[in-house]
Amino acid sequence: MREIQIGGLVSFTTIDYPGKLACVLFLVGCPLRCEYCSNPHLLCPGDGEYDPERVFEWLRSRVGKLDAVVFSGGEALMQSDATIAYMRRVRELGFKIGLHTNGFYPDTLRRAADLIDWIGLDFKATIEKYPDLTGQHIAYDNMIRSLDTWIETGKDFEVRITCDPRFITKSDLMEIVDILHNRHVANIAIQKYIPHFEAEARKTTDAMRNQIFVDTDLRNRINSMFKSVVWRE
Ligand code: SF4
Repeated sequence: MREIQIGGLVSFTTIDYPGKLACVLFLVGCPLRCEYCSNPHLLCPGDGEYDPERVFEWLRSRVGKLDAVVFSGGEALMQSDATIAYMRRVRELGFKIGLHTNGFYPDTLRRAADLIDWIGLDFKATIEKYPDLTGQHIAYDNMIRSLDTWIETGKDFEVRITCDPRFITKSDLMEIVDILHNRHVANIAIQKYIPHFEAEARKTTDAMRNQIFVDTDLRNRINSMFKSVVWRE
């Protein structure tokens, strides 16, 4: 089995795993090519910059200081067995395991589910717009399978919707939250899109990015549908 490829690390965070002090490992490789990706340097599998054994020794030194280790990316499950094996070792140190995922690998998620305590799952757009945004025709179906797989586990999770105005209108957002509401999802986060790399012809404005967030009626309606709605602005 190939060794895990780690491309980045955040040593301390209070916002990447709800209620836990955590660090984040960014794994290289992602099957999607989202137009707004803020981590393009992590998309292609290759040699990670970080020695996994040195990272593991550092994690050992964090026992008692951190609660959780979050696997992010890229798409952490793209490395499949290497990610699962590393998660198992990290869990044996006593950490909770968190996962940020785009949901592209539902079967791997199912295999890893016993090791993972919490996930943050991206729901990126409506089914019609998923291929345009992600460059992948099967990304939507896979994400829904991952969502249903995780719901079956009964474990905690959050669904994140990043509102890039080029891909999510107000009616798109309502279509997405209806799907989540119908599945009895408890916790969602609606995130303002922050531009990183925008082509000149596809630039967004503050007004475009804010339109969902300044609509009080829309916010109240969505807030009433879920146990918790975090508006990340
Ligand atoms: S899923 Fe995440 S890491 Fe992959 S291309 Fe999209 S934004 Fe970038």
